[in-house]
Amino acid sequence: MPTVSQNVEILDQLRARALVCVKCALSDTRTNVVFGVGDPQARLMFVGEAPGKNEDLQGEPFVGAAGKLLDTLLDEIGLVRSDVYIANVLKCRPPGNRDPKTEEIEACKGYLREQIRLIAPEVVMTLGNFATRLLLNTEVGITRLRGQSYQWWLGASLVPTFHPAAALRSGERVTNQMREDFAMVRGILDRPVVGTEEMVDGADEAAQMELFG
Ligand code: URA
Repeated sequence: MPTVSQNVEILDQLRARALVCVKCALSDTRTNVVFGVGDPQARLMFVGEAPGKNEDLQGEPFVGAAGKLLDTLLDEIGLVRSDVYIANVLKCRPPGNRDPKTEEIEACKGYLREQIRLIAPEVVMTLGNFATRLLLNTEVGITRLRGQSYQWWLGASLVPTFHPAAALRSGERVTNQMREDFAMVRGILDRPVVGTEEMVDGADEAAQMELFG
């Protein structure tokens, strides 16, 4: 089993590969690859959708208005950005912030799979439909999936929530539901032993390996 410092080195090598990736057409239009930021040994990892305009310009995830809300919600559960790791399903910006295409997700998902495997967080929080559907291997929407935690790949818990941009558009009710989901994450991080959680189709390790394969 690799040591922590070996995993950090492998994560750096993965970043170096991603920075020159040309596996899909988004490499033609991106300014920067947005690989991910944070603690490579984080207990909590966030997975968003794809970089927006500001993220593409700065090479860092969630630096715009949605990122500010993420910071606020983190602060409310006693965490700051440097405590967690933040990545996206897509590492490059879809032009005009359009939805990710299936072939882009397929081309990119290996990077996310390796990030999760190397960081090995206890909790993965998916932000919005794209991340949640990919990681839970489901077509079910976020509104139905959120509000609970799922026993997931590598023994992690997966907690789906809304995308912060959706909360900014929709207002206080959605923000408060996100608050409930963040409180659930706090509870999982604080609990001494693993409790019982709902299993979803495709949440077992074999299915996840295939999903990311
Ligand atoms: N939205 C995302 O899904 N990811 C980002 O990094 C920024 C906005």
